[in-house]
Amino acid sequence: MVEFQRIDTKQSRWLLDVTITVFIEFKTEADIERMIKIMKAKILIVDDTKFMREVLRDIFVSNGYEVVAEAGDGEEAVHLFKIHKPNLVTMDITMPEMNGISALIEIKKIDPDAIVIMCSAMAQKGLVLDAIMAGAKDFIVKPFNKDRVIETINNVLSR
Ligand SMILES: [Mg+2]
Repeated sequence: MVEFQRIDTKQSRWLLDVTITVFIEFKTEADIERMIKIMKAKILIVDDTKFMREVLRDIFVSNGYEVVAEAGDGEEAVHLFKIHKPNLVTMDITMPEMNGISALIEIKKIDPDAIVIMCSAMAQKGLVLDAIMAGAKDFIVKPFNKDRVIETINNVLSR
């Protein structure tokens, strides 16, 4: 719908009122629910390296996700998990105090359905397997690839 309204006769200025209808097509009702679930996800980032936390935060925030907290070690991660009850945790493996696998085990005790994704270096295959056995949903490899990170979290969130 388009409506014209003259607002200034001297300068011939018109107010143009336009209504635009945007159609977004979803395949099914389940697609909509999945999309809402993914976009509403609250994320807790756990890594002892500040730079790594910043890289992940940038990836998540620039894709519309909410980062609710960041932890620098496993103990802090467990503490912040209890407070924020995030929908997803990215968990570094090698950290001081409590490592990522111990923190994962503690988080799984608090919430068996917790979605935890491990962040690993290339050489940590054995530890990643340990983490998967302990309930990690998936893993992302450092250095992080933006598309791969988003693909992985969307994938686990929509399961
Ligand atoms: Mg580390």
